[in-house]
Amino acid sequence: MEQVVIRQLDSLIRLSELDSEIAVLKKGLDKIPKAVAAKREEFRSAETALDAAREELSAMQKEHRQAEGALDGHLERIRKLNHQTSLVKTNREYQTLLGEIENLKTEQDGYEEKILELMEKTGEVEKNIKALGEDVGREKAAFEKEEAKLFAEGEVLKKELAAREGAREEILPGIDRENLETYNRVKAFRGDGVAEVREELCLGCRVSVPPQKYADVIMKTSIQTCSHCQRILYSVRKAEKEKAAE
Ligand SMILES: [Zn+2]
Repeated sequence: MEQVVIRQLDSLIRLSELDSEIAVLKKGLDKIPKAVAAKREEFRSAETALDAAREELSAMQKEHRQAEGALDGHLERIRKLNHQTSLVKTNREYQTLLGEIENLKTEQDGYEEKILELMEKTGEVEKNIKALGEDVGREKAAFEKEEAKLFAEGEVLKKELAAREGAREEILPGIDRENLETYNRVKAFRGDGVAEVREELCLGCRVSVPPQKYADVIMKTSIQTCSHCQRILYSVRKAEKEKAAE
């Protein structure tokens, strides 16, 4: 009887270890896509800044072309008015034309000033685009490196998970149906189906185990559960503890 109980308990303890390892591995695997997405976001924000700067540049270039067009129109009108001055008959007409030319020249100055200003700003934006382009390149390389690293980590986790799931499948047939049901039922609401008993105390819930039950656990005469938390109880012999600590 004792051997049977020992084998059952050993399998249940191993099952519990595997289940907690599987839970940790699954948690680790779940984190990977989130970590990749977060890294990708960093790289995308650099791209967004670059796109915004490019748009700003194209708006400036458009404004520049419009200003150049307007300036050309003015110069053409000034040229025509200048030509007309040689054809007018009266001084009054002449003065009117000069006044018009003067106004156009003032506006021309405004356009020229604006064009210079735009050229200066365009230079700054172009410089900014170059720096942002470098940022994007750097961020992209960092992202790809991180993504590859996370992918490799994921592959390791998947392998470890598969190994543990395989081991779990192997030990399941050796566990009595009743014990497995108890284990699964308690694990579902306690997180674990087994608990160690030490000095008449269930380490799962910290409630003391009655002397007779404690004796059964120590002697491994039958499978016992904690009357408080319902976990399947086991005791670790001093020699086993020392061996495990090695
Ligand atoms: Zn308990």
